[in-house]
Amino acid sequence: MKLETLSVHTGRGIDPVTGEVTPPIRVSTTYERDIDGEFSRGYSYSRADNPGRRSLEECIAALEGGADATAYGSGSAASLAAFSILRPGDHVVAPVESYHGTAKQLRDIVGPTGVRVSFVDMTNLDAVRVALESGARMVWIETPSNPLLNISDIAAITELAHGCGAIVCCDNTFATPVWQRPLALGADLVMHSSTKYFGGHSDVMGGALVTRDRGELSERLRDYQGTAGNIPSPFDSWLIRRSLTTLACRVRAQTASAHAIAEFLSGHAKVERVFYPGLESHRGHDIARRQMEGFGAMLSFCVRGNRSDAFAAAARMQLFIRATSLGGVESLVEHRASVEGPHTMSPQNLLRVSVGLEHVDDLIGDLDQALG
Ligand code: PLP
Repeated sequence: MKLETLSVHTGRGIDPVTGEVTPPIRVSTTYERDIDGEFSRGYSYSRADNPGRRSLEECIAALEGGADATAYGSGSAASLAAFSILRPGDHVVAPVESYHGTAKQLRDIVGPTGVRVSFVDMTNLDAVRVALESGARMVWIETPSNPLLNISDIAAITELAHGCGAIVCCDNTFATPVWQRPLALGADLVMHSSTKYFGGHSDVMGGALVTRDRGELSERLRDYQGTAGNIPSPFDSWLIRRSLTTLACRVRAQTASAHAIAEFLSGHAKVERVFYPGLESHRGHDIARRQMEGFGAMLSFCVRGNRSDAFAAAARMQLFIRATSLGGVESLVEHRASVEGPHTMSPQNLLRVSVGLEHVDDLIGDLDQALG
């Protein structure tokens, strides 16, 4: 079945008692035992499993073409769950440019437990090869990357990683499974911030990990999820599962607008540079064409001038809201260097844009007047 059909039907069914088409939000934390002490209806305690979260996890696994998924309270909780498989002495190879919170987890939480962390330029296969010479337990990929929209070659990196026995986890938040399926390209694990396109309306936080198979890795993650108690609430699970039904429509429409905006900005006199993998001028364009079916709805651009010129342009925008996050129905703009802290790789004149569902003509008009 195609992704659109899976997103509507997987893990969702008609209620046999009431005939309800839309699943209810089920809040019970505990479930009645059978007379013999068993739980033949499949649920015992909500932290371990509950119907709303199960529906969400089944759907996310299906969209990514995986066998199992675990859902968490945020994307950051999901990445930390993935890092929970690392042990002292292990080596993890991660991108030098990625979501700054993931790098901070590796630096401030994972590294101090005795795990060796190497940050490398994932767009340079030779650099990845050198980093893997001493062996590794995990390679982390984020493509397209936040916020520079760098493209990493998932299949090539996976081949290198598997060559030394490392597992590969790919943060697929920007692309979504609508455009990119890392498991099909060889990755072992896919991570999402469901706060973004999965939720899609800037009103819920969540995260997810998807494994290709059911086995040691999926069992370890399931065990971590329940033991750490790191789970989304029934309402959050319901909201995200509900929003997944419109994921493909939203992402396709947002991507079409983003592509048009990237082309408009590329020809604008007040714009120094545009970062969008759909542009032929983007240095990762050929790899993106190979491994993605569409280029996504995120882009960044450098305003001609300096930091204050970038701030001034963002201040003049009327439709793009100055706010962090991405993937919602409303377009957002953000000066990344000022939120990423001392390790930022974002140029000071860079603005990152999350393209929403407003009409593209209105969005281009807004950018045009703001750039002056
Ligand atoms: N990964 C990427 C690519 C992100 O952009 C973000 C958040 O912006 C995260 C992970 C973290 O997700 P969350 O904010 O849901 O914890």
